[in-house]
Amino acid sequence: MFQTEYDVIVVGGGHAGSEAAAAAANMGSKTLLVTMNLQNIAQMSCNPAMGGIAKGQIVREIDALGGYSGIVSDTSAIQFKMLNKSKGPAMWSPRVQSDRMKFAEDWRMMLEKTPNLDFYQEMVSGLIVENNKVKGVKTSLGLEIKGKSVVLTNGTFLNGLIHIGDKNFGGGRAGEKAATGITEQLVGFGFESGRMKTGTPPRVDGRSLDFSKMIEQPGDENPEKFSYLDITKPLVVQRSCFMTYTSPEVHDLLREGFDRSPMFNGRIKSLGPRYCPSIEDKINRFADKDRHQLFVEPEGWNTVEMYINGFSTSLPEDVQFKALSSVAGFENVKFFRPGYAIEYDYFPPTQLQHTLETKLIDGLYFAGQINGTTGYEEAASQGLMAGINASLKVQEREPFILNRSEAYIGVLIDDLITKGTEEPYRMFTSRAEYRTLLRQDNADFRLTPKSYELGLASEKRLKRMEEKQNKADAFVQFFADTSVKHDEINPILEDKESSLMKQSDKMFKIFSRPNITIDDMRKVASVESYIQDNNLDTEVIEQAEIQIKYSGYIEKEKNNADKLNRLENIKIPKNFDYSKLKSMSLEAREKLNKIQPVTISQASRISGVSPSDVSVLLVYMGR
Ligand code: FAD
Repeated sequence: MFQTEYDVIVVGGGHAGSEAAAAAANMGSKTLLVTMNLQNIAQMSCNPAMGGIAKGQIVREIDALGGYSGIVSDTSAIQFKMLNKSKGPAMWSPRVQSDRMKFAEDWRMMLEKTPNLDFYQEMVSGLIVENNKVKGVKTSLGLEIKGKSVVLTNGTFLNGLIHIGDKNFGGGRAGEKAATGITEQLVGFGFESGRMKTGTPPRVDGRSLDFSKMIEQPGDENPEKFSYLDITKPLVVQRSCFMTYTSPEVHDLLREGFDRSPMFNGRIKSLGPRYCPSIEDKINRFADKDRHQLFVEPEGWNTVEMYINGFSTSLPEDVQFKALSSVAGFENVKFFRPGYAIEYDYFPPTQLQHTLETKLIDGLYFAGQINGTTGYEEAASQGLMAGINASLKVQEREPFILNRSEAYIGVLIDDLITKGTEEPYRMFTSRAEYRTLLRQDNADFRLTPKSYELGLASEKRLKRMEEKQNKADAFVQFFADTSVKHDEINPILEDKESSLMKQSDKMFKIFSRPNITIDDMRKVASVESYIQDNNLDTEVIEQAEIQIKYSGYIEKEKNNADKLNRLENIKIPKNFDYSKLKSMSLEAREKLNKIQPVTISQASRISGVSPSDVSVLLVYMGR
């Protein structure tokens, strides 16, 4: 049945698997996507939304690299918001509310149009491995499919166990079977595995809600979009979300179910996402708070189904129903599905290299929730990187690694493989030490040229990026070169209560003042005519504005990043034996022997390795 030997086999068609399959196939590798249910490609298991703080930056990075998540997020969006717009541009984070069904459908259509990509629906039950090298996969029906490299993206499916109150049953997601066989085989090969937990709220019938008792949350007045390509357009019409609150009465009703809660009666033992706690966890941990926000989010353009963000729970369904019925606007609520929690296997990601290839088995890659992360964006970006690297390996080319100053994706992967994670890992802006460099507006400048070199980003994408960069650079230069007369600028400065000019000066200096915006500068005739004459769009104008206003910070971070990159260049020999460095702490020696960092810089980021341990290493390396 499968005569061909594939270059890359991707197991699992979730967010990680879909990006991995697209990347490998687009890089010219003969690729197979095997997944348990082809109807559920890139299914959003939890909230119908993409992006958000730090996650929005990741989606833009995926797009800049030629992945599909940004495009699909745009085509399936029902609402767009740029979060944190009142803060500096390093914090601006795009987020869309998505049409869940359209998201999955558009992903499938994008994949079907991708050359070099085959599909097969079945459960993979094991790997074919010879001499520590992967040779393919085995399916539950006994088929053997040969592949030069394999990317595992099993999500929450490995030995998944669903909990609702005191009931539990095997499943990878509500209504879907768990995947078995893989964990046991990998543990047999010497891999360490662990258990994690996550949960989801109930979905309800929007026709049963009274929205007049809630606060409307419309999208942005001037919505933007994710993809840097012009094949998608910003939304013209949007759907609103709504906000309401729990109350002490709701909390009391929820508490009535605590003795049947798998979270509190010890049935769920694994750790869940700290920053996405269940409602029972919130009222337990923050007992002094008498209300919590709930966001009522439409599941799509046409469906009446609503997602209750903030009410994730694994309490018994009767308790969920009683408590939610007491929330303002929910008095007559009808449930579509109750909330639930799920426990699943993951593999501590310190067992991976920066390419996401496992250290133990050659040609085997892990991406997504299997690595202990949570979130679609985190999963998709790992899938993209694993797909690229699996393909590069087959083509006998150099691996593709992004460092911490180049991308959030670099931060994510470095954190995972260097520090590991004991609870579901999600991205935050605070995890990135160079966040002024890693903005959502410049992901294309940072990453598209690299991806074009790999053969992934199209020439069209590169040309578009270069044109934007040239126009923005020229506009910045215009501000640096052009002066404005003090009698023209002073009325504008006076309006903003900014100190007045005594003589004419360069506009760059004036524009750098914190309270002077591009709208103020556009009141200067020469600025407005430059914009009109050169036909500059909002994206270019915004880019120039950020470059001018934050030039000091950007320069400083670039210098710091250069310093780090110098340490990044000091390589440590493969399989280095740290036991012989007796002047290093025992903890450091143990951790370093286990993780085997590739560079001094990576060694310095391992928890338990102190600056003095790094000095010992530097002396040993002759630095
Ligand atoms: P998934 O999206 O889980 O996809 C895995 C895919 O692999 C599926 O298509 C599955 O069919 C397939 N598969 C698995 N095993 C096999 C096999 N052996 N053979 C063939 N195919 C296989 N994220 C958050 O950020 N916040 C949350 O609050 C949150 N809550 C969640 C609640 C629940 C109940 C669930 C299930 C997930 C939740 N998530 C949450 C996680 C989010 O869904 C995942 O992070 C994201 O979907 C991970 O993507 P993935 O590609 O790694 O895996």
